[in-house]
Parts: sequence; structure tokens; C-alpha cells
Amino acid sequence: MPTTSTPTHCPYCALQCGMALSPLPTGGVEVVERADFPVNRGALCGKGRTAPALLSSRVRLTSPLVRSGDSLVPAGWDEALDRIAGRLGRIRDEHGPDALGVFGGGGLTNEKAYALGKFARVVLGTSQIDYNGRFCMSSAAAAGVKAFGLDRGLPFPLEDIPRSGCVILVGSNLAETMPPSLRFFSELRENGGTLIVVDPRRTRTAEQADLHLMPRPGTDLALALGLLHLIVAEGRVDEEYVRERTTGWEEARAAAMAHWPEYVERITGVSVPQLRETVRLFCEPEAAMVLTARGPEQQSKGTDTVGAWINLCLATGRAGRPLSGYGCLTGQGNGQGGREHGQKADQLPGYRKLDDPAARRHVAEVWGVDPDSLPGPGRSAYELLDALGGDVRSLLLMGSNPVVSAPHASHVEERLRSLDLLVVCDVVLSETAALADVVLPVTQWAEETGTTTSLEGRVLLRRQAISPPDGVRSDLEVLRELAARLGVEKGFPADPEEVFEELRRASAGGIADYSGITYGRLAAENGVFWPCPAPAEAPGNGADGSARDAEPARDPGSGSGSGPDHPGTPRLFLDRFATPDGRARFVPVTHRPVAEEPDDDYPVLLTTGRVVAQYQSGAQTRRVDELNAAAPGPFVELHPRLAARIGAAEGDPVSVVSRRGRAVAPARITTGIRPDTVFMPFHWPGEGRANTLTNPALDPTSRMPEFKVCAVRVETAES
Ligand code: SF4
Repeated sequence: MPTTSTPTHCPYCALQCGMALSPLPTGGVEVVERADFPVNRGALCGKGRTAPALLSSRVRLTSPLVRSGDSLVPAGWDEALDRIAGRLGRIRDEHGPDALGVFGGGGLTNEKAYALGKFARVVLGTSQIDYNGRFCMSSAAAAGVKAFGLDRGLPFPLEDIPRSGCVILVGSNLAETMPPSLRFFSELRENGGTLIVVDPRRTRTAEQADLHLMPRPGTDLALALGLLHLIVAEGRVDEEYVRERTTGWEEARAAAMAHWPEYVERITGVSVPQLRETVRLFCEPEAAMVLTARGPEQQSKGTDTVGAWINLCLATGRAGRPLSGYGCLTGQGNGQGGREHGQKADQLPGYRKLDDPAARRHVAEVWGVDPDSLPGPGRSAYELLDALGGDVRSLLLMGSNPVVSAPHASHVEERLRSLDLLVVCDVVLSETAALADVVLPVTQWAEETGTTTSLEGRVLLRRQAISPPDGVRSDLEVLRELAARLGVEKGFPADPEEVFEELRRASAGGIADYSGITYGRLAAENGVFWPCPAPAEAPGNGADGSARDAEPARDPGSGSGSGPDHPGTPRLFLDRFATPDGRARFVPVTHRPVAEEPDDDYPVLLTTGRVVAQYQSGAQTRRVDELNAAAPGPFVELHPRLAARIGAAEGDPVSVVSRRGRAVAPARITTGIRPDTVFMPFHWPGEGRANTLTNPALDPTSRMPEFKVCAVRVETAES
């Protein structure tokens, strides 16, 4: 193992802050600043700073566990793996391959996500695979593909933000989710640009804005349409851009014109003067951006909502131009890469579509299988969880904790309990692992090497800095061992670089083309932005519309064609969009209500989100003392008027009841939230589990559940 400091990246969110790990004389590692990485320049939030705590935590799993009655008891690796393979084989024989479910995670490295997708389709032969990234950014991905022909979180580096003129940040609380990124927005303002935040809460991020719009949860779509209406009415459309670089404007314009400002004010609660001011601030500078996050995306109309914000960018010529554009602030550490390489229900590596015959042929050739043997697209994440115990009889789960993170979590928990076989690979006994029949202890972050792809589309190398504890194996080893036991001896190497080499070949020529990226380059550079074709294809990169066919074909597997290395593509769409005709597509959208509007029984809206000291389901961060001290438990944030109405004082236990269940947590009373809305963070299990309440209504395109809004009743806990 390294004796000097190892440059790497944080294990948590999609900012993927650079850090270095330095060995301690007493064993273990400590985080040291790494100022050379341009995204965070050494700055880290508390989660990143304390990340090594979990490496040596006493709650770390170091032995497989197998179920014996109501208990999980330690077992040897062979016993555990034999038990899994035997039962998977029997379930497949009895019920067919689609009875075998697989659930991945947006925290898995690219190599693991790739290997998991291949394992599901080649070894198990199942279509029933999806991952928790579906809960994260799938609506933005769907809208991006519709409009631009390609989904990459940000089509430009974060470093462009300070030089833009205006940024509208929709439903993102970066001050809590990605604190080091705030400096880009501070610099934007220092440079004379403006920051507009759209959020029903006055978050720490909103406090830094020049203008804060507080729409009613679930009305961002109407808000964007109202802004577009005003843009048209005030003659601010960039007609030349619309004519030359887009299609579909007339339909989108007609849809927006039905959303006049006063109507939008009634729907959203955002006043007409605020709408006009937003339009002025957005349209006056030469360049502007819209960035969305989970607020507008985690809705049953998330794809249309993001589409409406993209339309705003297109109408004003703010896409595919320097310092302008639409971007999605992806949340999970490898949320971006995780959706590019095949663990998503409908995708093959390279962001290829599973129902595309040419894509199937290409990937099948790399995998050495018959294209016809590959299953078709499967169910989306919530639909898969909902099917457990029905036609899906087993689940292999990696890097996810749906008992806390899935919507309608009590139902998901019940479905998990009904399985014939639940296998969980994790570093700790998460709430989901505690339900498993077999738990496999796996390596984490600093104990293994692998790549991730940040929210910028920047592929990064996380290097191993420390040996894993005895008794622990990597996810790649687990897949190799299970594949062998199920009769597939080859094609599942445990060496991450070997997996990446195959991933390069599988992604070559795809939208997310990694074929020109090597571990060697990643070690020498501060990441490489995809698409990055192998040298013989340079300079074309296809996805940004440059001349993919300008160079003769080459063997994508060689990794070192005759030309110079492709530099990667930090900025997409500058010449053309990734659509067949090179033009961006307006998508006509109209306002519609959320799936569950308030009524007499459930008169208040619940919205959910995160706090700075915890990460996602909290499986990791709830086991770090310093983070727990900073954020020990859930709370219900509510306005003083609502608190007075139910008779709750600060700290009183408050009961939040939806059609799906009840959660109880202490009241946190603030004027920084709308009186018709309560907020709960979702990191905790048990009585205060916010996802007991959330609505699994799905977006028809992205299949994203409506985490961000549901109707609830709020009472004092004694009521
Ligand atoms: Fe890690 Fe994200 Fe915090 Fe950076 S902002 S240190 S990547 S959790």
C-alpha cells in the first residue's frame, strides 16, 4: 500500500471533490487538502473531511452473514456464495430468469455499474435490473435527451459559472448538498452576475441569492411557463437562434402563451413583479444558465418541468453557447457514470439503448454473447421494488438502502421481506441489509480503485490508498465468484482496470464514449470529460455534433490509435446538438397539478430533502460520530402560523401523516418556509422516516417518483 499521500476523490456526492489520503503512523489514513483539483481547490464539506472514519469503524462488516431464523450469523465466503448461487439457480429454474432482480446504486464506480449490468444480462439473463439513480436525476436525463439528444449533468465545467451573467438555480440547496460548489456562485455575484434561487424554503442557498422565488411545491413547471410567456410578450426571444439552432418552437410558444402571468401567480404564489424581474435578470446579460436539481426533477411531471426550463434557455439562445446553458446538478457520487454503463433498466454501456438492435449487436460482441440472448428493457426502480415477492422472487442489491431512501418505504420494506432471497452487498449493516438472507461485506472507496464520473461529465480516478480489512472482498470479486458458480467462468475480472478496458470497448461509438480514456490518462490529468473517443476517431466526438465520420473507423479496443489523444469534451453543443439534425428540440409542455393535491383530510404539502451533515439514506454518515453530532435526527420544519394552528412549539414532537403512513419528529419552526408546506430531511429510518410518507406516483417518461411533494396532515404527536 502507498506510504505517501494518495490523490483521490470523496466517496459521497457528485461534486467528487479532490482530496488526498495520507497514511497515519497508527494505521489508517487521514484526509489532507488537495488544492490542485479545480472543482473544490482543497475545500471539503464535513462529510468529505470525516470520510475515513468509516474505514475503521467498529460497525464495519468483516464477515459474510447468513440468515438463521430471525438472526444473521457469520459465515465463510464459500458458504455464503454457494448459498446465494444455489438459490438463484433454483429460483431461475422454477420461475425463469426474470424472477431474479438486481438493484444497483449511483455510488458504485463505473466499473461496478458496468459489471453489475453485464452480470444481470449475461449471467442471470434477467431484464429486472435498475438502480437508485432513478430516484435522483432521471427526469433531467429524460428531458436532456429529448431536447439535446444527450444527457450529461452539466454540459460545461463548473468553472464557467462565475463568468456567466445570471444563473437560475431551481430546487437546489447547494449550501447543504455540495457546499464547496457555492464559491462558483459567490464569484458569479462578485463579477456582477446575478443568482436567482427557486425554492419553497429560504434555504442557506436562497439566502445568498439576489432574488429568491418561493413557489408552492410542485408548481415549478407553471413558473417556467409563465417566464417563457413573459419572454415572448416582452419581445425577448432570440429569433435568429431559434430559427437556426432549434425545432418545435411554435408548439412550445403556443403552450407557454396559455400561461399568462396572473394565472401563473395564482398557481405558484410567485408575484407578477417577481416574474418580470426574473425575466429581466435572466435576459439582459449576454450569457445565462439554468441549473436544476431534485426540486423540479423528483415530481410525477419532472420530465416536463425540466423541459419547460430547457425551453426557457432555448427561446433566449442560452444553450450551446459559451457561458450559457441548461445543466442538472446530479446528486450521487457516480450518479452520472452509473446511468451510462448499463445498470439502468433500459440501457447498455455507452448510454446505448437496450432496445436498439445495433447497440445490442455492438455490446454483445464485446461480451462474446449472442445479441438475441440479451434480455430487453426491464422495470424502473420503484416498479421493480413494488414487484418484489410477486413475479420477482430474489434481489441482489449493491450500494443502496431502499428501506430508507425509496418512496412509500414501509411498502418497499414489506416487499423486501416477502422475497425468497435477498442478498445485500454493503460495508455496514444498513436497514436493508438487516432484512437480507445473505449479507456480503465489501470494500469501500479508499480500499479499492475505480472511476467515477462527476456531475460535470468529468471521468475521475479514485485510487486505492489503504488495504481493506481481512474478510472483506470487492463487489467485482463478488460478481466474479457468483458468475463462476452460475457457470460463467470468464468475463468478470476483479481487477478494476481490466473492467475499465472492456467498458471502453463497450462504450466506443456510443453517446457516452469513454474509449479514449485510460487509467494512465486519468492518473496524469485532473479527469477527462466524455465523450472522449479513442485517438483514431479524434478530432470528431459525435456527441457534441462535431464530425464523427471525419476519420476512418478504428479498433476501439486498441485504446491507442495513431492520432493524438482526444482532449475530451468539457463543453458540449457549441457547434450543434446531439440530435440527428443537430438542432435542439423544444418540447411543448403545459402545467398540470401534482399527483396528490391537498384536501380537507391532508391540507398541507410535504417536501423532503437533505441536510449538510448527512448523505442520502445515511447508511454511511449516520455511523460517523462528528456528523451525527451535527445532525442527530430528523425534524419537521414548519411555519409559525402552521405551528400555532396545531399548537406546536419549537422542539415538540410533531406527527406528519400522509395516505401512506405517519412519521414523528421534533418541530423546527421558521419563517423560512411557506405556511402551506412542511419539510422533512429523509436520512433517517424509524419513526422519523420521511419516506414513510412520500408518494410513489411516477413520471410517465422518467419513472421518477414524486418525492418532492405529497399531501399530509400535521398534528402534535399527542393528537
Ligand atoms: Fe464530498 Fe460532496 Fe462534500 Fe465534496 S461536497 S466533500 S464531494 S460530500
